[in-house]
Amino acid sequence: LLYLDHCGSTPLAKEVEDSILNFLKSESFGNPSAVHHEVGKRANELVSASREAIAHALGAKSNEIIFTSGATEANNLLLWGFALRYRAQGCHIIFGATEHKSVFDTCSALSDLGGVAVTECGVDASGEIDLDELERQLALTQGQSVLVALMHMNNEIPARHPVESVSRLCTRYGAFFHCDGVQGYVRERLDFASGLYGSYVISTHKIYGPKGLGLLVFGSGPLSTRITSAYHGGSQEAGLRPGTLNTLAIVAGAATVALHESKRAQRVQHMAHCAEAFVNTLSGLISSFKLTTPLNSKVAGIVNFYFEDIDAPTLLASLKEVCINRGASCTGSGGEQYSHVPKALGLPVEVQANVLRASFGDAVSMEDSKIAAARIAERVRQLVDERIK
Ligand code: PMP
Repeated sequence: LLYLDHCGSTPLAKEVEDSILNFLKSESFGNPSAVHHEVGKRANELVSASREAIAHALGAKSNEIIFTSGATEANNLLLWGFALRYRAQGCHIIFGATEHKSVFDTCSALSDLGGVAVTECGVDASGEIDLDELERQLALTQGQSVLVALMHMNNEIPARHPVESVSRLCTRYGAFFHCDGVQGYVRERLDFASGLYGSYVISTHKIYGPKGLGLLVFGSGPLSTRITSAYHGGSQEAGLRPGTLNTLAIVAGAATVALHESKRAQRVQHMAHCAEAFVNTLSGLISSFKLTTPLNSKVAGIVNFYFEDIDAPTLLASLKEVCINRGASCTGSGGEQYSHVPKALGLPVEVQANVLRASFGDAVSMEDSKIAAARIAERVRQLVDERIK
């Protein structure tokens, strides 16, 4: 199998696997909240040490890290939390047109809640937020409690929002800046203390760590806000995300973050080389191969493409040994549905449904990336031949 879906998920790194095995041997199965007895205390100490290490790596304070079950939950927790806190006085959420569904669909659900206005902000043809439009929208919401939800880097197209300018605009207009950093953190270091973000979200299974752990970095910086959690039933994570903590994933998460900090540069370089090799091979073999957005050195390893006159579902169905997608895996757009992102780019309708994504990382070599491209080219030729017959 040729695995070209690193934006979907990544395999566990050996070092992270070792941390899990050590944890399993350590008899730290107690409830980390049961600090009055020894077994609970042991688990609690592991959680605290992991939290401390993660916070340190992210330039955050340990009380600014909220553990969740993943980025989807972290985005929901923050957005619902903001809406519930501010809707009585009327609040406004501005979100990007290419956000991951965990932000996009949540904003649309919140618009039905009452007291919450939501506005979508468009992107240009390269997928970057339109800063003039954002500023116009911010100016119209003056005096209200406003949250801007914009991702750092996109998970389907190689696009990076100018988060520095977005943050400056948020500060100028008194808005809270929530950033889905799942793909951004893969490629860039986070220094939360820089004050660029009000909150930032990371998912460990995108960086060779466990599935089922999200990090909501949120707290006391200059853009801080208060939120009212939609959850009840426990005092964990300052009462914002109640529920017994997943000690195993948290311990593994600390190992994941530490490893990623030491390997990021190397990983990014590898992703960039694989993506280039893939694109060069395909462009050399098939003239109808087109990129929706050009390769972007700031967002290494993501290729969003289509073949003129080739139906993406038919191609995917005949490509079982090459793991690629039609969009984000979590929305089902991996297979049967297609994504909202090509539409936001303004691509013609006939192209929107036939866009594919390949994303690179440690589970694929440069040679395999070329082989995958050649296999795809072979299938495209077969589909064209069958049509001619
Ligand atoms: N946001 C982005 C940008 C993502 O790429 C993903 C994963 N596809 C998510 C959020 C959701 O992450 P998780 O799987 O941890 O819920």
